[in-house]
Amino acid sequence: MIRDLGKEKDNSLPRVPKLTDEQLKINDAEQAERAFIPAQGTTYNRALAVIQESESISLKDMVPIQRANYAQALADVGKFKEAAKTAQDRETKAYYKAIDKAVWRNDDDRCGCDDLNTFDKDRNPVTHDRHFVVREIWSEKHGKKMGLYKCNKCGEMNVRE
Ligand SMILES: [Zn+2]
Repeated sequence: MIRDLGKEKDNSLPRVPKLTDEQLKINDAEQAERAFIPAQGTTYNRALAVIQESESISLKDMVPIQRANYAQALADVGKFKEAAKTAQDRETKAYYKAIDKAVWRNDDDRCGCDDLNTFDKDRNPVTHDRHFVVREIWSEKHGKKMGLYKCNKCGEMNVRE
């Protein structure tokens, strides 16, 4: 008993187990998998759970809030076309459709509006980009979170770097 206590004292710092090459490989694979989840975030994973749960219920059997949550979840994982079909009100449908279009259009597409030109305090011309990031969305095309850019003059949108 006493000897055991002494042993414990000697080992007060946890020992790092020595892994074989095979175990290291498995460990690396597990870490890589885990690292991928935070990159998508908890919203993404929560959305996947909502989608899985919702798929067993037909749309007409859902109460409006269920259906809205389902549509939101589809949007959260970047399925904007499906989100537009699932959403009930016209405004939300149109919004998801517009984002879907913004995702799949060419990243280099820009509207023909002019940027905003002003002058700084020394009367030097300064150009302000007419596009701003409305929000970040999960882009299926890019496979990651991307900025949803919008022109503050005409309202056109594009999902791009
Ligand atoms: Zn524009």
